[in-house]
Amino acid sequence: MTKTLLLLPGDGIGPEVTAQTVRIIERLNAEAGLDLATETALFGGAAIDATGVPIEEATIARAQAADAVLMGAVGGPQWAATAFDVRPEAGLLKLRGAMNVFANLRPALCFPALADASTLKRELIEGLDIMFVRELVGGVYFGSPRGIEDIGGGKRRGFNTQSYTTDEIVRVARVGFELARARTGRLCSVEKANVMESGLLWREEVTKLGASDYPDVQLSHMYADNCAMQLVRAPKQFDVIVTDNLFGDILSDAAAMLTGSLGMLPSAALGEAGRPGLYEPIHGSAPDIAGQGIANPCASILSFAMALRSSLGRPDLAERVEGAVAATLEAGYRTADLAGGTQRVGTAAMADAVLERL
Ligand code: NAD
Repeated sequence: MTKTLLLLPGDGIGPEVTAQTVRIIERLNAEAGLDLATETALFGGAAIDATGVPIEEATIARAQAADAVLMGAVGGPQWAATAFDVRPEAGLLKLRGAMNVFANLRPALCFPALADASTLKRELIEGLDIMFVRELVGGVYFGSPRGIEDIGGGKRRGFNTQSYTTDEIVRVARVGFELARARTGRLCSVEKANVMESGLLWREEVTKLGASDYPDVQLSHMYADNCAMQLVRAPKQFDVIVTDNLFGDILSDAAAMLTGSLGMLPSAALGEAGRPGLYEPIHGSAPDIAGQGIANPCASILSFAMALRSSLGRPDLAERVEGAVAATLEAGYRTADLAGGTQRVGTAAMADAVLERL
């Protein structure tokens, strides 16, 4: 049955890298039995210029009706001064909320050919393969009350609320357990149960879920500050890490950078089973290189591979795409953001090399 992918190329290098992923889709449709229809809609600054808002309601409805959504990137200096609620980034938060994608999967994977591109020693990151599961629609970024209030004497107080319910913890922990079960069977849950009640609840609920539904998964717990230290000391000790929105934001960025370039890193945001996932490179719109044809398309291509695995029911093709990217790096092809290699190429030529190996 034909599946549908909504493309939201966005701004800056977003359309440039998304166009290369479309070439991969066309090839898989033509030669590998993928039956995927694509639609495209305006998003971010491009949508603001055309419609006055970063995402139209009709686009949100199309996203909810699709099997998966692939984003490029949004934002840029030309929209940085617009009101907060009509900035490109506001459209992204609105889309995530409307799709209720509560589990953010961010792999930190070291391609063998890029082992020397890391800031850590080769032996620490060679073979690294961590999957972060970050809670995406709750916690301190969303909790209320929040605000800045006057406390007299010319002084103010800024405050946010960290809050998690049993249901919010269990649904994201379940994603972590399922992934761990499909990988090496190890899950590390990260919080600050020593100093935060929400962290204590997190630990208790994850422990309970593990004992009742996932006795085969080896569950460990770690405080977030220790996890930060362990990620740069001995990152290969981790397989799947599940954590809240705030700690996940920070720790997954640190882990991602261990592997080299922003231009290589995909992500997925998943909701309830059967609902569409939202896939996007973790990089932004890179205004400094937009329009030059030099952006690395691999993060977008690998985000599509995650969609093949988690929303489109084709894990076999996900492996083929990931294998083709790895083989392209092995063959020495590098965009400007990647060190080493033997052949410097632009955006389209990098995708040509991936297509050749697909
Ligand atoms: P950025 O990720 O756009 O760029 C950071 C640096 O990495 C730049 O030097 C850029 O040239 C480089 N880079 C990024 N992706 C690359 C690629 N695929 N190939 C080669 N080099 C690449 O972050 P920024 O400069 O802080 O932000 C620029 C704009 O993007 C801002 O408006 C920001 O709000 C937005 N942004 C959007 C998203 C998103 O859409 N999810 C994420 C982050 C930033």
